[in-house]
Amino acid sequence: MEKSQVIVIRCKDYDEESVYRTMRTGIGLLGGIKSLIGQDEKILVKPNFLSVADQDSAIVTHPSVIRGMLRILQEEGYTDVAYGDSSGHGSSKAAARKLGLDESNSFGARTADMNEEAKVHFEAGKTCRDFVFTKEVVEADAIINLCKMKTHALERITGAVKNVYGYVCGLHKAAGHAKFPNDTIFARMLCDIHAYKTPRLNIMDGIVAMEGNGPSSGSSVPMRVMLFSADPVALDTVFCYLVDLDPELVPTCSQGEVLGIGTDKEENIEIVVAQYEESLPGQETAHPVPKIKKRVVSRNELLEKYGNPKFDVPRRKPKLTLLKSFSNIMTGFARRPVIDRSSCIKCGICVSHCPVPGKAVDFTGGKDKPPVYDYKKCIRCYCCQEMCPQHAIHVRGKG
Ligand code: SF4
Ligand code: SF4
Repeated sequence: MEKSQVIVIRCKDYDEESVYRTMRTGIGLLGGIKSLIGQDEKILVKPNFLSVADQDSAIVTHPSVIRGMLRILQEEGYTDVAYGDSSGHGSSKAAARKLGLDESNSFGARTADMNEEAKVHFEAGKTCRDFVFTKEVVEADAIINLCKMKTHALERITGAVKNVYGYVCGLHKAAGHAKFPNDTIFARMLCDIHAYKTPRLNIMDGIVAMEGNGPSSGSSVPMRVMLFSADPVALDTVFCYLVDLDPELVPTCSQGEVLGIGTDKEENIEIVVAQYEESLPGQETAHPVPKIKKRVVSRNELLEKYGNPKFDVPRRKPKLTLLKSFSNIMTGFARRPVIDRSSCIKCGICVSHCPVPGKAVDFTGGKDKPPVYDYKKCIRCYCCQEMCPQHAIHVRGKG
């Protein structure tokens, strides 16, 4: 069996030229963009625009990474390119604008609206067959997945596999959480989305990652790496290696392997670290040919030389594994969202995103006070925590 290759390249900051060069190198080592996408295909570049957020927040894919990809596509002669994401809160265009991106500085690419619905019946789906995606996803021939390296309250991490949830249009995302209410079944549904339209290329922005209370309220932490792979599960597995987390504890990795969208098995992954070699003084030429030094490394060497074993992510094994399928029983033991009353501005976004009929978080104490949880109703999807613009919701408990 051919191994899934994951390229790991050190990139110390978001200097546009450095990011572009890193991306050129990573994509080149995977065989070049032309080996992955046909010249006449319609391309959607799909960053993580979880919300309208600042570029330094580590919530969203950094604009240098988006622009690096768009520049490469233009240089390689691709003419039908759009970029965007169905944001959890706020529009794709507003998220792009906040990052300083618009059509005047996007290398000929369009900013996709991502707000028109397209119903899809996918007969091959194993957990879910009916989706409401955005029109741009359905119409794209090829998707490039520009994911962000972050922690996630439900799935422990969010990377390449989870990022395709942005195919789902707007508030239909919240309904999906109600329908697939635990981490494993939610991961299986994500695998169906991958099977419907698997990204041709996955690139992870791990230059500055998010640890702790992710995916929107954690702390930024420099990891100074970018990851590249055609296999989203292998890419997320290598993210786990970098933070010393067992990929078997990450449902998007373990279910991705089971459902065949990629591999989380160490023996089936080849980790290649690469670096761009600068010309020595006196050897510079007007058009330098990039010199790439690369080598295959073990999981341990990767952690030692590139990783961060102190990265704040839950590493405990879940208890009561045998009862996992009884989600109503498990819910009582799962970590719970808690509102920091002093940070809450009573905007109600958590309430509007709660997918439970009758709401598991609501202004039951009055609109002049922070919302209150009904933990008996709460399915622990953590949409409220993900969407709170004040980062006022924390997920507490062991895990
Ligand atoms: S989303 Fe956050 S700030 Fe808004 S009401 Fe809920 S807890 Fe308060
Ligand atoms: S209260 Fe929060 S975690 Fe609980 S079901 Fe509603 S959105 Fe999900």
